[in-house]
Amino acid sequence: MPVAVRKHPLALRLTKNRSMSDSITITRTVYFRCRLPRQMANAFNAESGRIYTQVKIEHYRVYAQTGHWLSQYDAMRLNDFYNHDRPALLHAHSIDAAQEGFYKACRTAKANREDGAKYPRHNKPYRTTIWKKSGIRRRDDRLLLSLARGLDPIRVALPDYLHDLPDDAFTEMKLVYNPASHHHEWHLVITVDVPQSESLGTNVAAADLGEVHPAALTDGEEAVVISCRQLRAQKQHTAKNLASLQHKQSHHKKGSRRYRRLQHRKNRFLAKQKRRRRDIEHKISREVIDWCEENNVGKLYIGDVRDVADGKRLHRKSQQKIGAWSHGKLRKYINYKATAAGIEVNDKIPEHYTSQTCPECRNRYKPQGRVYTCPVCGFCAHRDVVGASNILSRAVYGELGKVRPPETVKYRHPVLRGKRSSPGHGASSSVSPA
Ligand SMILES: [Zn+2]
Repeated sequence: MPVAVRKHPLALRLTKNRSMSDSITITRTVYFRCRLPRQMANAFNAESGRIYTQVKIEHYRVYAQTGHWLSQYDAMRLNDFYNHDRPALLHAHSIDAAQEGFYKACRTAKANREDGAKYPRHNKPYRTTIWKKSGIRRRDDRLLLSLARGLDPIRVALPDYLHDLPDDAFTEMKLVYNPASHHHEWHLVITVDVPQSESLGTNVAAADLGEVHPAALTDGEEAVVISCRQLRAQKQHTAKNLASLQHKQSHHKKGSRRYRRLQHRKNRFLAKQKRRRRDIEHKISREVIDWCEENNVGKLYIGDVRDVADGKRLHRKSQQKIGAWSHGKLRKYINYKATAAGIEVNDKIPEHYTSQTCPECRNRYKPQGRVYTCPVCGFCAHRDVVGASNILSRAVYGELGKVRPPETVKYRHPVLRGKRSSPGHGASSSVSPA
């Protein structure tokens, strides 16, 4: 028997808990052009790369000699010892960050070993230099980035839109080389406390993130499908052009002038497509949050994609396909936009069978197209809305099939129709399939 979700006790509990804290912390990264002389920027990143490489080499050396992994603490001490008579360039904590980089890479490799990840082996001639909060000071409209003792700090002009931020908002600064634009960029991590918005929703909703439609949402009374052909088209366009460039590249000798030119084109093309995708994903997540606010949603459930193959572990090939589907980013954007709007997000709802189980008779079948038609009872609804309803049902009632998908489905198109993704600059002249 389907039950309406609107006045579930959960919603009340939610508001009670929330009133205790009146501000939330938001972390964001902003990017802007680095105006440092190229030689200077290169020197910093070369020094970070040198430290990273040195830690890596020492580490493997000790391992080869003793058969033991060096602890992170010991390795960092050892590294400091080797460098003690060398004139330092970077701030002590920037050095720490470069050293920690190796351990971070090891941890990532360990976590993904099943997928074939390997421990870091390569030397890094350059590495992103990181200034931690302790190395960042604010003076008027500039940030001072500390270097080693005795050296003048670097002065970085803050972009206008960051002038109003409090002095302690600047958490981390990274000096990143962008191979596509051939320029260095600043990546500035900002942490701000935002007052919790008062108009906290009491409603509960669920979102199903999918490949064809980026998001389907329902609160049990209304259903909306966020549709975006541009996102899919953009992905196809990227894959197609990339394949074509790689094919052209395969005719040339690696390292030849022609090969390098194609490589440059490829980098520029990929960077442009990445910016475009980010823009689209921001618009989609904005649309999701707008709908939540309009419908007074206080808690949003999202399916956990890791179970996307109905609990089974995927082959590497399909894993890649899901990777290209960019759930991670969209999920991240939805998460932080929701937090800013005072909506609580739970994105750990297991997704298995949510798009297969009939909300009417709980029969399980795998729909072929976009329409879910139950072969047993004839129940018919939009496939993604069935998914969202079942996620909501699992989250609120602990089982599937308790939330009936609303009969009418609205569509929203966050990216204007007719606005095509333009073919990448310098890319082949094939027309985008938008
Ligand atoms: Zn059925």
